[in-house]
Amino acid sequence: MSLEEYKGVFIFAQQVDGELSSIALELLGKAKNLAEDLDEKKVTAVLLGSDVKGLVDKLAEYGADRVILVDDPALKDYRTEPYTHALASVIDEYKPEILLVGATAIGRDLGPRVSSRVHTGLTADCTSLDIGDFPLEPSPARETKHKQLLMTRPAFGGNTIATIACPDFRPQMATVRPGVMQKIDPIKGAKAEVVEFNPGFEENDCYTEIVKIVKEASSVADIQAAKILVSGGRGVGSPENFKILEDLAEALNGTVSCSRAVVDSGWKPKDLQVGQTGKTVRPQLYFAIGISGAIQHVAGMEESDIIIAINKDENAPIFDVADYGVVGDLNKIVPALTKKIKEALAAKG
Ligand SMILES: Cc1cc2nc3c(=O)[nH]c(=O)nc-3n(C[C@H](O)[C@H](O)[C@H](O)COP(=O)(O)OP(=O)(O)OC[C@H]3O[C@@H](n4cnc5c(N)ncnc54)[C@H](O)[C@@H]3O)c2cc1C
Repeated sequence: MSLEEYKGVFIFAQQVDGELSSIALELLGKAKNLAEDLDEKKVTAVLLGSDVKGLVDKLAEYGADRVILVDDPALKDYRTEPYTHALASVIDEYKPEILLVGATAIGRDLGPRVSSRVHTGLTADCTSLDIGDFPLEPSPARETKHKQLLMTRPAFGGNTIATIACPDFRPQMATVRPGVMQKIDPIKGAKAEVVEFNPGFEENDCYTEIVKIVKEASSVADIQAAKILVSGGRGVGSPENFKILEDLAEALNGTVSCSRAVVDSGWKPKDLQVGQTGKTVRPQLYFAIGISGAIQHVAGMEESDIIIAINKDENAPIFDVADYGVVGDLNKIVPALTKKIKEALAAKG
């Protein structure tokens, strides 16, 4: 493998049912930064699907300079083998230096298979991506390589943060969880160069047949889309007591979320869990109420614009990441806060 042949930052533009997933746009935002640091001019989105050409302009508006399009009926619904074949073929043909994939159910299936097929490494569930020297600390025992993709992720159950590089193989591949990276503000009317690529599909034993797709009807709020989150932890005390958080959320037009302790206790569904094994959120306002601030929780909410913590323990680690902290009993503070907010909103009309 000649590493010099590999150039450019690529993202896998996930679409489902002909709609781009938010993660595709988030990855484009990050790819732009990485491309600038590498003095690369172009960010490339790889779009796989059937009858999906109409999505190209949206990718352009969110930062794609070029879209490599593989449009084939074999790619209508996600199936491991044809998608792996298509993405691996794109890599063989266009030789990206970096390829980012969303850590979604699809990306978690596709990314490792593709990396194995093209014989490179993949770092899963990255929380930060940068360009820099590797090893991080110069060592006489090892040649320093410049402009490497430094992929950072929690390791050992979230007890440490590891920075991983892939200096000897290409592309450097990473998966990133939804909500971690930021989209750029869309550039209305932007256009991308479109390259249509046909890797040829030959059905083999690994092609699964989709008999039926059953979609789960979810009545649970999308906490990643919420601008205001009122998050409760074990300190709330009981599922019934979440009512005081729901009242606060309602007054603010926000959404209730929670810590893992709450999910493990069966008080709230897993879809509402914030953190390393839950969802990564980035609301404008995040209330952490009766949440201690364990590293695995903080990993999922620390990028929120403003964090307000309410906790009776003044030494709770959540106060280290909070912009505002209130020390006291949530059972008194939260209803009082809700009352004040309602009064203020009523006075405003
Ligand atoms: C591999 C791994 C992955 C994990 N992933 C996640 C994850 O995704 N998300 C997550 O949240 N956790 C995760 N955890 C669990 C995490 O380590 C903590 O155990 C969990 O976050 C604790 O939840 P909590 O803060 O609600 O509960 P606790 O740690 O029990 O904290 C409760 C807090 O409530 C306060 N409190 C109690 N009563 C009151 C009151 N009346 N008024 C005000 N404050 C009060 C207490 O002072 C305390 O600080 C993970 C752990 C591991 C090992």
